[in-house]
Amino acid sequence: MQLYDVIIIGGGPAGLTAGIYTSRARLRTLLVEDFTLSPQVTTTFQIENYPGFPEGIGGLDLIERFKKQAKEFGVEFKQARVKNVERGLTSIKEIKIETESEVYNSLSLIIASGARPKELGVKGEKEFRGKGVSYCATCDGPFFRDREVVVIGGGDSAVKEALYLTRFVRKVTLLHRRDKLRATKILQERLFSEQKIDVRWDSVAEEILGREKVEGVRIINLKTKEKSVLSCDGVFIFAGLLPNTDFARGVVELDEKGYVVVDSRMRTSVEGIFACGDCRSTILRQVITACGDGAFAAFSAQEYVEQLKLQAPSTK
Ligand code: NAP
Repeated sequence: MQLYDVIIIGGGPAGLTAGIYTSRARLRTLLVEDFTLSPQVTTTFQIENYPGFPEGIGGLDLIERFKKQAKEFGVEFKQARVKNVERGLTSIKEIKIETESEVYNSLSLIIASGARPKELGVKGEKEFRGKGVSYCATCDGPFFRDREVVVIGGGDSAVKEALYLTRFVRKVTLLHRRDKLRATKILQERLFSEQKIDVRWDSVAEEILGREKVEGVRIINLKTKEKSVLSCDGVFIFAGLLPNTDFARGVVELDEKGYVVVDSRMRTSVEGIFACGDCRSTILRQVITACGDGAFAAFSAQEYVEQLKLQAPSTK
């Protein structure tokens, strides 16, 4: 069985950057990506704070460029869902990465598995998923031309996607549970000057209503306790993220929310395993920080693998 120097789990900005660096350092690199979990960045229509693209760049376009660069440097790609990770018991400290159909062995592992949208857990959310409930404005926005939609959340994603949706819809109601947005100021300024967006403060969704598809949302104002129904054709939910780290539970240390704990060199609690990007415990999750993390994780993995090869020349 082929022994890789580095296996990377995840094909978002962090994983692809790590791959560019490790393959450029001539390490045998395999990147395993779960096609059911598209990188968060691919759901972003336009990224305007990634340096070098003053006009902005689409998330999908940026990822395609990263991927092309990684392939040119020699990263191998496999589409599979990682089920399990464990340390081998041999003297060369192999790490075993198990997917649904195969087992791969590697001297080091970089976890760059990202995060996925968090569900609200309200009645109607699951039932109407794909029938008006969406977690991706870029993917589903065009289906709501001239319709009315509700956007839930007060972070960068909710505000950015609400603004994006105004290209198609007649009206957006942004529902936020507090009286202040979490989103960055420039996005707030744009939101407040957009005629098509109305904000409902201090309010949460109690139930998503409809028969065959979404027809409205029952909301409650948390301050006045007043309940009302907002008629709409779509509900876009941006209530934050959940890390894709189930396979790493019990393997490396995770924080209370399930994010991988790393040091400043992206080293996890287990020797030879590194983590980077949205799946790691951090206060800032941006494309640029994911790329920086990826470079650090690659550097640390390279250092670790080279050291290991010096100690156990049979791994060369
Ligand atoms: P986020 O920053 O965690 O915001 C989630 C929002 O959903 C918060 O406003 C939160 O309310 C609200 N929320 C959470 N649970 C809720 C519930 N059960 N009911 C109602 N509301 C709920 O998540 P995000 O906006 O997806 O952003 C994630 C990360 O990606 C952040 O680091 C963000 O900066 C980054 N990002 C950056 C950009 C960019 O353009 N630079 C774009 C998208 C995302 P509270 O505010 O009350 O907690």
